[in-house]
Amino acid sequence: MAYRTFNPYTCKEEARFNFISKTEFNEKLKLAESSFHHWKDTALEERSSILLKVAELLEKEEEKHAKLITTEMGKPISQSRMEVSKCAWVSRYYAEKAAEFLAPVKMESTAQESYIRFDPLGIIFAVMPWNFPYWQVFRYIAPNFMAGNTGLLKHASNVPLCAIAMEQIFLDAGAPEGIFQNLLINYDQVSQVIKHPGVRGITLTGSNYAGYKVAELAGTMGKKTVLELGGSDPYVIFADADLENAAETGIMARFQNNGQSCIAAKRFIVQEEVFDSFLALFREKVEALKVGDPMDPETVIGPVARKDLLLELENQLRHIVVQGGKILTGGRRHSPKSLILKPTIITDLPIDARINQDELFGPIIPVFSFKTEEEAVQMANNTPFGLAASVWTGSRERADRIAPRIESGTVAINGMVKSEPNLPFGGVKASGFGRELSEIGMHEFLNVKTVSYF
Ligand code: NAP
Repeated sequence: MAYRTFNPYTCKEEARFNFISKTEFNEKLKLAESSFHHWKDTALEERSSILLKVAELLEKEEEKHAKLITTEMGKPISQSRMEVSKCAWVSRYYAEKAAEFLAPVKMESTAQESYIRFDPLGIIFAVMPWNFPYWQVFRYIAPNFMAGNTGLLKHASNVPLCAIAMEQIFLDAGAPEGIFQNLLINYDQVSQVIKHPGVRGITLTGSNYAGYKVAELAGTMGKKTVLELGGSDPYVIFADADLENAAETGIMARFQNNGQSCIAAKRFIVQEEVFDSFLALFREKVEALKVGDPMDPETVIGPVARKDLLLELENQLRHIVVQGGKILTGGRRHSPKSLILKPTIITDLPIDARINQDELFGPIIPVFSFKTEEEAVQMANNTPFGLAASVWTGSRERADRIAPRIESGTVAINGMVKSEPNLPFGGVKASGFGRELSEIGMHEFLNVKTVSYF
């Protein structure tokens, strides 16, 4: 399949691109490699001023980029604008912090003097998903750009206009050609990029299937990999929590991006005493959500990104019902031909329901109930995934007890899980390995070099 822009709201194809030719492919790889040899020696100030210009351009042209996102994958426009603005934030963050993160660190040793320095590695290849088509790319390219690595991007095949626009922003900001290139390529070419000797690191955000395929090949080539994969994050609500806040925040935690976020709250787990009252509050809020045209700034729920994804969600919904799940609200399309699934609440599932083992990548939320703290922790961890979790409680002691016991890369207490530039982000178990963002994320694709003077 070639790259194509298929507007999931209008259900119309708006653009189509062929995979690049073999000659173009080879030229781009050659350029990435030769560019690295001078980019690694550029002054940090030079990289920083370009990245600051990138941030400025993103802010100046926010509306243009937001519209591309909404057109290609259906995110409500108000959220697309926030995504673009967050990309400006991460660009500025690394432009300003890189000198600190890359500064040599003195170490105690048996030598007269030792220190570690952080040198660039080479080309870092990113395979990225469509769900946050700008944010996923920026959180990878901003630190690598500052580190002196060069970037090659294989974006998801339904967001080519976003990919092309991001490459252009860097050129417009004054980045030399070849520092960050977009490749419209097929899976065979993905393998060729991974095998290329100049490619020293691979980062993939996406499904487990794609992640394991790419990491398998990278492993046989001995190349460093970071995998950001799926999640089935629990949203645990204790009886002593602020229920109104938990219900209000739960709306965005589950339905942001039409339910297609890796760190969405995908299983609500609510203490028995407050189960009915929480559900009543939450249901009322869900039924009040504006569903429809994602270009309308008031819309909260738009279409899922592709028809095959909607069919998969409908299939999961059928299995949920077969397992005893009751549809409290939603459960059907906004209109028969649209790709919009109404926000859906499921109750009455057994605690070991199959859905704990899968990822629900759309606007559906199963709500389970629990009795004790111990049971809550067990239910939260009863999934192969380990990306993030939210815990709602009025007790700091309880939060402190539970946070270390949750098997995930992030735990949010009395709030929704969010990524931000200054905090490390990533998962454990089937949610992947390695971290993005913060100083820790920047260090993933650096040569941590020990220098000793004897
Ligand atoms: P996907 O189907 O795995 O696609 C992700 C990327 O991998 C796309 O560029 C895709 O290209 C490529 N790809 C797929 N199979 C491949 C293969 N065999 N060889 C080479 N490349 C391959 O995932 P998605 O549907 O776009 O994204 C949704 C998934 O991403 C969810 O599971 C979500 O939880 C996860 N995600 C995780 C995070 C995180 O930070 N942990 C963040 C966002 C999303 P094509 O489009 O051309 O197929």
